[in-house]
Amino acid sequence: AKQEGRNGYRFFTSEMQRQSARILQLESALRQAQANRELHLCFQPQVSIDGQRLVGAEALLRWTHPQLGVISPAEFIPIAEGSGLILPIGEWVLRSAVRQMKAWLDQDYPSEMTIAVNLSLVQFRHPGLVELVVDVLQESGLPAHCLELELTESVAMHDPAAAIAVVRRLHALGVRLSVDDFGTGYSSLSYLKQFQVHKLKIDQSFIRQISEDGHDQSIVRAILGMACSLGMLTIAEGVETSAQLAELERLGCAEVQGYLFGKPMAAAEFDARVRQQQLV
Ligand code: C2E
Ligand code: CA
Ligand code: CA
Ligand code: CA
Repeated sequence: AKQEGRNGYRFFTSEMQRQSARILQLESALRQAQANRELHLCFQPQVSIDGQRLVGAEALLRWTHPQLGVISPAEFIPIAEGSGLILPIGEWVLRSAVRQMKAWLDQDYPSEMTIAVNLSLVQFRHPGLVELVVDVLQESGLPAHCLELELTESVAMHDPAAAIAVVRRLHALGVRLSVDDFGTGYSSLSYLKQFQVHKLKIDQSFIRQISEDGHDQSIVRAILGMACSLGMLTIAEGVETSAQLAELERLGCAEVQGYLFGKPMAAAEFDARVRQQQLV
């Protein structure tokens, strides 16, 4: 209070104590979350720029704690990464997402559609990753080309030589790879080429003001041109308005994801929504 206000240092430590107590609380709650069935997946549609074709779905993890309520992945994913819990949780995400995609394909979903799953650096560096992916695909019967793994630039750049070796093995399985949040990290173009990445996901920070901001338009135009000349696909993230969509269409972007076409939704709601939009 008043006493603390005069002492910046003491204020700072109490703020840090509060934060570390929260982290410890969430970490211990997260240990139980899987067994207590507090985790579930949401799916967000990815569509062709004309809005006519469902090209994919991104699986996004959700956690609702009985007392603490809904906790954002932006808060709990870093805690899961720091504690190693991301390994069992990430495995559950991968298995569940792939199983759901297989069920949809067995219905009437487009056969060239992909399910995108986010991978953390911790998961990517784990020696069992490739075997896990093989196992999950075999167990589910999902064709490898229907699985897309999303890596961030920091994952790719952490230990490029090791990362390229893992990517080659995933590539050999037929799994797709995309670079998430593209444009916010530091990946060099020469590494990207060696990575045999299929798709760049243009970060939503470049999309937010794209209908007004000439700089953002130039950046997105440059990314699209580069991706095209390297033979990569592109998708724009965070598309919320028809003005953004129109600008992306003008620039030649082929695929979009964002609230304009649907928020992340539980599987049943996703299914109802894409049928209502006649995407399936
Ligand atoms: P991300 O992979 O970049 O996911 C996109 C985020 O943008 C999601 O937030 C999504 O709900 C949000 N989003 C989608 N469309 C729009 C839009 O039109 N406007 C706005 N403002 N936002 C939009 P979410 O679900 O809160 O996830 C946050 C981050 O948490 C993800 O960012 C990802 O880095 C991480 N994450 C989520 N699920 C997983 C997971 O299963 N594994 C791992 N390793 N990370 C995950
Ligand atoms: Ca993502
Ligand atoms: Ca992203
Ligand atoms: Ca992000």
